Amino acid sequence: MPIEGKFLLMELPYSPDALVPAISAETLSFHHGKHLEAYVNNLNALLPGSRYEGLSLEDIVRTADGGAFNNAGQILNHNLYFSQFHAPQENNQPVGRLAAAITAQFAAMATDGQSAFDAFRAAFEKAGTSLFGSGWVWLSSDADGQLEISQEPNAGNPITLGRTPLLTFDVWEHAYYLDYQNRRPAHLSALWSIINWEEVERRYVG
Ligand code: MN
Repeated sequence: MPIEGKFLLMELPYSPDALVPAISAETLSFHHGKHLEAYVNNLNALLPGSRYEGLSLEDIVRTADGGAFNNAGQILNHNLYFSQFHAPQENNQPVGRLAAAITAQFAAMATDGQSAFDAFRAAFEKAGTSLFGSGWVWLSSDADGQLEISQEPNAGNPITLGRTPLLTFDVWEHAYYLDYQNRRPAHLSALWSIINWEEVERRYVG
């Protein structure tokens, strides 16, 4: 909820260089401190006197269109994005009930030598690589816990379809251009080492 009518820039739960080499301190600093900050400032400027005053970010995203939707969506998406990371870890794997759901749903897609998680990762990366232009790739769940990978353009979030957003990759160029230039696939593939699966699983279990 907004505090005294204003949304605040989220605080990062790690230091600016914590995600190196997947995401450099410079990219993190611009992405969080400039891009996300601009969305927060834009939304705060739009709220006074509008029908969105006093609503939660999620409720604005569910009901708004135009600039309110775009800026609230980008805040919600980036809050989920930045809070799903931790320092790089070897053999970084999903945990708990989410791990079991990924195994149950993606095992059938695994080819020779692949685990269900490998098959999930490949499908998620492909969705991110093939999304034309700016947007987000999502893992979300429905009320029965069924998982789905989807692409959303621009500020889209599967919360507008009644789904629970779990994991997201930002494929706007500002997320990777300083570190990877045009190599979006290389950036997406580097993100698996920094996913905080405990946090993503919390979103799934609710
Ligand atoms: Mn972004």
